[in-house]
Amino acid sequence: MAEVKLINVSKIYENNVVAVNDVTFTVEDKEFVVLVGPSGCGKTTTLRMIAGLEEISKGELYIDNVLVNNVPAKDRDIAMVFQNYALYPHMTVYENMAFGLKIRKLPKDEIKRRVEEAAKILGIENLLDRKPKQLSGGQRQRVAVGRAIVRKPKVFLFDEPLSNLDAKLRVQMRTEISKLHQRLEATMIYVTHDQTEAMTMGDRIVVMKDGIVQQIDTPLNLYNKPINKFVAGFIGSPAMNFIEGTLIQENGLKFVSSKGGLKFQLDTNLDELSKYINKKVIAGIRPEEFQPNDSQSSNQKIEIEVEVVEPMGNETFVYFNVDNIQFVARIPSSVVIRPNQKFNFTFDVSKVHFFDGETEKRIN
Ligand code: ATP
Repeated sequence: MAEVKLINVSKIYENNVVAVNDVTFTVEDKEFVVLVGPSGCGKTTTLRMIAGLEEISKGELYIDNVLVNNVPAKDRDIAMVFQNYALYPHMTVYENMAFGLKIRKLPKDEIKRRVEEAAKILGIENLLDRKPKQLSGGQRQRVAVGRAIVRKPKVFLFDEPLSNLDAKLRVQMRTEISKLHQRLEATMIYVTHDQTEAMTMGDRIVVMKDGIVQQIDTPLNLYNKPINKFVAGFIGSPAMNFIEGTLIQENGLKFVSSKGGLKFQLDTNLDELSKYINKKVIAGIRPEEFQPNDSQSSNQKIEIEVEVVEPMGNETFVYFNVDNIQFVARIPSSVVIRPNQKFNFTFDVSKVHFFDGETEKRIN
C-alpha cells in the first residue's frame, strides 16, 4: 500500500514567493492522480516536495501515514521521471537502468532480472547496449521510465515526462504510461500543463492556479461541474465559451443580457439564479452544445456569421463573433459550412453553466 497525503502544505521561496499555498489532498493507494494547471501554478514544486527534493515550508506530508517532511529523498521509496530524462550520457541503457539498484547494493543477478523485466515491459530489450545519444526521444523516455520501474518504488512521480516528444509519440506514450499503471498497480502522481493529458490519464485530477488547488475530481466531474470559471475554461478543448452579462427579469421571464446586446432566455427551472436578478453573471457554453439549425423549441437560437472554419476530419470547429464575444462551436463534419456564411445555431439552455460575475464561482 502507498498512500500520499498532503495536509495544508505550502512552499514559500526566498523573497516571500508563495509557490504552493495551503494544499491539501490525498492520493489513494494505486491511484493515478494528475496535477494540472498553467505555467507557474506550483505543480512541479508540489511534486518536488513529495519527492523530497524541495523542503516543505508549512504543512505535513505523509506517505502511508508516516510523516516524511524530514525524511531525505533517498529514503522515501519514491521514483521520479523527469521531463529531460536525466540519463547518464556515458552509461549504456542497461547501466542507466541498473544504476539505482547498484548503489542500493542489490545482488547482480537480481539487478539483471529486474532490468530485463522492465526492458521487456517497455519494449527496449534490444537497446540495452546503446548509449543515450544513440536513442530517439521516445526511447530515452522509456529508459527513464524503466529506471523508475526497476526500483519497484512505493510511488512514481512524473514531471511533464512527455513534453519533449512530438505530438504522435506523446499520444502513444500516454497510453503506454496508463497501461503501465494498470500493470504495476502502483500509486502514480503525474504533473502536466496539458489538460488533454490530464483528462485521458488521471483517475482524479488536481487543478491548480497561483499555488492554490481549485478543484479535485474525476475527469468527467471536472468537465460537467467545474467549480469556477477558471476550471471551466481550462478543462476542455476547444475551451468553453463565456458570455459575461447581467441577469434581468422581464414579464416574469429571466434573461442573460450581455453588454454588447446578446440576450438569451433562461430555463425557468433554474432556481439558483433567482438571487442574481440585476447582478452580473457569466454564462458558459461548451463548444459542442451549439447545434446547427436545430428546431427544438426549448432551445435558444443565435444568428451568426461564420469567421473561420477548421475542419478536423471527424468534426469541424467553427469560430464566430456575436456582439463582440468570440465563440467556437464544434459540429459534425457532415455539416457543410463556409467562412462569411450566415448561419443559425441553437443551444439547450439547460446545459449552460453559470458563474457568479464577481467571484467567478459556479452557481448552478
Ligand atoms: P511550469 O509548468 O512552468 O513548470 P509549475 O506549475 O510547475 O510551472 P513551479 O515550477 O512549481 O510551477 O513554480 C511555481 C512558482 O514558484 C512560480 O511562480 C515560480 O516562479 C516560483 N519558483 C519556482 N522555483 C523557485 C525558486 N527556486 N525560487 C523562487 N521562486 C521559485
